[in-house]
Amino acid sequence: MARTDLDTPTSVTDLVTPTWEYAPAPQATDVVSIAATNDLFIGGDWVSTRDGSTTATLNPATEEQLATYTVAGPADVDAAVAAARTAFASWSRLRPATRGAHLYRIARIMQERAREFAVLESLDNGKPIRESRDVDVPTAAAHFFYHAGWADKLDWAGLGPGPRPLGVAGQVIPWNFPLLMLAWKIAPALACGNTVVLKPAETTPLTALLFAEVCQQADLPPGVVNIVTGDGDTGAHLVSHDGVDKVAFTGSTAVGKAIARQVAGSDKKVTLELGGKAANIVFDDAAMDQAVEGIVNGIFFNQGHVCCAGSRLLVQENVHEEVVDRLTERLGTLRLGDPLDKNTDIGAINSSDQLGRITDLVAAGEAEGATKWELDCALPTNGFWFRPTVFTGVEQSHTIATDEIFGPVLSVLTFRTPDEAVAKANNTPYGLSAGVWTEKGSRILEMAGRLRAGVVWANTFNRFDPTSPFGGYKESGYGREGGRHGLSAYLKPAA
Ligand code: NAD
Repeated sequence: MARTDLDTPTSVTDLVTPTWEYAPAPQATDVVSIAATNDLFIGGDWVSTRDGSTTATLNPATEEQLATYTVAGPADVDAAVAAARTAFASWSRLRPATRGAHLYRIARIMQERAREFAVLESLDNGKPIRESRDVDVPTAAAHFFYHAGWADKLDWAGLGPGPRPLGVAGQVIPWNFPLLMLAWKIAPALACGNTVVLKPAETTPLTALLFAEVCQQADLPPGVVNIVTGDGDTGAHLVSHDGVDKVAFTGSTAVGKAIARQVAGSDKKVTLELGGKAANIVFDDAAMDQAVEGIVNGIFFNQGHVCCAGSRLLVQENVHEEVVDRLTERLGTLRLGDPLDKNTDIGAINSSDQLGRITDLVAAGEAEGATKWELDCALPTNGFWFRPTVFTGVEQSHTIATDEIFGPVLSVLTFRTPDEAVAKANNTPYGLSAGVWTEKGSRILEMAGRLRAGVVWANTFNRFDPTSPFGGYKESGYGREGGRHGLSAYLKPAA
């Protein structure tokens, strides 16, 4: 690490933000071995497809093919559900402490193989290794540790003595946190005595397949976890399957609504974790350095591919200029590029489809009259990339203020009073998360009570912990994952 500009500083800005250059610090990839072709994990074994097909998963940072995998057909899903049903009979009756021991073992193996998981996640998803290594993988293991502890304490989960598992859970997850979303789904289901069939997203199947190896290594009984890779049709067949007792879905609001319609009238229990358009609210008394870090973390973490991202920044009018100046100055220090470089802050966009969606929404923002700022940086020649972007002069009616962009794009709006902040923050069909930055504890409590969001962070943003329930209101879905509340989604009261 060397300072490149050693001249005498000529302005205050030079003193505050020196130009730093970093030598490349690439993470070695020899820790992972990716099979060229991948079967389905059903009944504890790798099995070839019965009626499916194959497709490829790419490295979004290079567009190179990483592997091919199976797109499971209806007969494959039937087989996976049947395997989960068979396994349920014994898994649900296993001594709870023994179930917990299996989960502990999985958690420990995930820790032991953490580097392998982190590299594979960054290769398949495009997220910076710093994030997969320090956030995704440790938090995924933490979910297994946490739920392992619950396995023999379910009588105290708030559902009365002797709560029972639901049966077979059909679980469908998105591509933005592939391993972490898997952990949010599988850990509570197994702790409560259910068995699962999980379908990863089209563009990120690889860490779920590596997790299947961990299940084998942990001697998890066959059929307790089944992984069926595939597309939307695979997911649709799984969630509507008669043999599935519980549907757990994380993904877009549009697909969530389709699933709700599909399972309406059945006795399946359903949780939906959907999209968001969170307000991150900065009052004029906030600690500004921390707030600016929180804004950056809120929207540029994971390239903004975060359902609870703070994509709408609401700034008190009298500090708007100061906040925007500090923010763009801070963004100027972000490094965009190779996800496997340990210095990278902004990795690749997960797919060309997603890049297209972000590009269209940003074009709409410009067409509707908002002012665009973007990071002045070179983009790699291959792969899918988008510069961190900030829109000021955004009005509530603008598309970029209402639609989920799911990319590194921030819309800045202003407010004068707490009432106006609440009204603007709640003016969205979503209700997943919000942030409040102020030094006044009383204001935090008042705002938290008035914001229609499942999670409200105070003087921080994007904090995840397995002990804390997560979920939305309105079109962000229903049900909670994590904490004691999350267990109730996988249990029913004693007969
Ligand atoms: P998506 O809805 O397109 O796909 C999600 C998953 O659903 C994929 O595995 C996909 O194959 C599957 N799927 C597609 N159609 C289906 C159908 N008809 N029936 C069953 N499964 C089907 O979403 P995405 O683009 O992969 O993910 C981005 C979205 O996920 C964003 O809207 C984001 O906000 C949301 N998300 C929400 C949370 C949360 O906890 N609330 C977390 C992460 C992502």
